[in-house]
Amino acid sequence: MAKYDIVIVGSGLGGLCCGYILSKEGFNVCILEKNRQLGGSLQIFSRDKALFDTGIHYIGGLDEGQNLNRYFQYFGLMDKLKLKRMDMDAFDVITFEGDPKQYHHAQGYDNFVNVLALQFPGERENIQRYADRVREICDYFPLYRLREDNKDLLTSSSFLETDTKQYIESITTNPKLRSVLAGSNPLYAGIPNRTPLYVHALVVNTYIESSWKCIDGGAQISKHLSQSIKGMGGTILNYSDAKKFHFNGSNIESVELADGSRVEAKHFISNADLSRTLEMVEGNQVRPAYRSRINGLENTISAFIVNIVFKKESFPYLNYNCYHFATDDVWCGTTYTQETWPDGLAIFTAPNSRTGQYADSMTVMCYMHYDETKQWAGTRSTIPNQIEFRGEGYEAFKQEKSEKMIDLLEKRFPGIRSSIQSYTSSSPLTYRDYIGSRDGTLYGIQKDYRDPLKTFITPKTKIPNLLLTGQNLNLHGVLGVTVSSVVTCAELVGQKDLIRKISAASS
Ligand SMILES: Cc1cc2nc3c(=O)[nH]c(=O)nc-3n(C[C@H](O)[C@H](O)[C@H](O)COP(=O)(O)OP(=O)(O)OC[C@H]3O[C@@H](n4cnc5c(N)ncnc54)[C@H](O)[C@@H]3O)c2cc1C
Repeated sequence: MAKYDIVIVGSGLGGLCCGYILSKEGFNVCILEKNRQLGGSLQIFSRDKALFDTGIHYIGGLDEGQNLNRYFQYFGLMDKLKLKRMDMDAFDVITFEGDPKQYHHAQGYDNFVNVLALQFPGERENIQRYADRVREICDYFPLYRLREDNKDLLTSSSFLETDTKQYIESITTNPKLRSVLAGSNPLYAGIPNRTPLYVHALVVNTYIESSWKCIDGGAQISKHLSQSIKGMGGTILNYSDAKKFHFNGSNIESVELADGSRVEAKHFISNADLSRTLEMVEGNQVRPAYRSRINGLENTISAFIVNIVFKKESFPYLNYNCYHFATDDVWCGTTYTQETWPDGLAIFTAPNSRTGQYADSMTVMCYMHYDETKQWAGTRSTIPNQIEFRGEGYEAFKQEKSEKMIDLLEKRFPGIRSSIQSYTSSSPLTYRDYIGSRDGTLYGIQKDYRDPLKTFITPKTKIPNLLLTGQNLNLHGVLGVTVSSVVTCAELVGQKDLIRKISAASS
């Protein structure tokens, strides 16, 4: 039986970043990935020669000196990634049915305020106040600023217990500006009277600082990280589905894979879904109260996604993302009805090495509850990047939903149908099976301002040698998960030392 210092279950960004940090610190690391392709939501796939991202459409904070740039320098990524900076004056464009105007979120805080103030004359002070507050909140999270000092986050920070929607409503009485400020809320699956202000602030801050797309897809991040880990002596095994932990006393001794083989280690890190991680722990190794607390946490909603291949040179490449809403209510998405769905779309075109004026493809995303696909829950698509087939009823369901989304898309881009060569779609079930979550959740646990501590997950578990990492810890997204990996590894190597090393790599 192979024995390692550390076994990491899952090669999502969190698992790979942990693998990199711990390999660099001299540990003998093994990463187990159930899929063929590494990277979890960094996976890409192609259809009709067009490339699609599954879960990374843009990244923030990558300009010189900014937080993710500094982290990525430590991970040896900055000089390897192929990136395209998005439009400075509009990285996100928010639009509403019946309103011909396009509202822009611009890069750089001064630019962000100036561009919005031009569209909302008389609101400059309010927009400035909003921008200042977003930045101030981010300051309370030292790891987002790569600082060692620790402002007293839990005791002095009212924003943990502030609702995003209520806060935005307190900023301005202008209903349209309220909708525009919250218009990119699909980035964090925002729910009114639920999503804490800090989640909104940490997510929008990174993109306002600077916004980038990966040329040829986000899988380049997992490719470079995995090459580096192997270069440092680490082992990465794909097609390795971890099923069960075996214990020696209160510690995990080994993990059993689907083929019955076991991998032994001193420490284990799970990058997998929290409930699924606990399913791997049988019996009383964790108390029923802990198990039911974790299983009782609600996940963020899932999505239905249409991936469109365009006819050659028929639709322009958009160097920005579009958030288009059927009404002015940008918060309606998670409470849709069959009559109102789809009530909002997130729309992305992706650049590749050949991209000039035209786009090869477009990804269109709309919230969808897992329950809508529950009748096919017993079917599985276990081979990533293969066309999934779950029966004709499911195909008809996907077709109907796709067509409805394209109808709304057509309203945003009149004539776009005639540019479509083909499309495929994915549902909450697709994500459930690719990523191994219980319900195809977009971003992991739903944070809640009414009880913020309940939805704070720490890397430590009740099992002494099992740590957690990934989007369920701090926050989802490339930056959130990268920071989570540092929080996890700090449990083994010490936080101060690690932050110093990361800072030194970028100075
Ligand atoms: C549709 C969508 C769009 C998004 N867009 C953006 C964006 O534009 N920008 C951004 O920053 N973020 C975006 N995100 C969020 C971001 O992709 C995620 O937060 C992040 O990639 C999650 O990383 P993770 O480390 O938590 O692992 P995950 O990506 O969740 O990966 C977990 C890994 O563990 C593996 N695994 C699970 N169980 C087992 C097991 N039993 N044995 C072995 N392996 C296992 C899975 O196969 C998977 O590879 C998006 C997410 C989605 C779903």
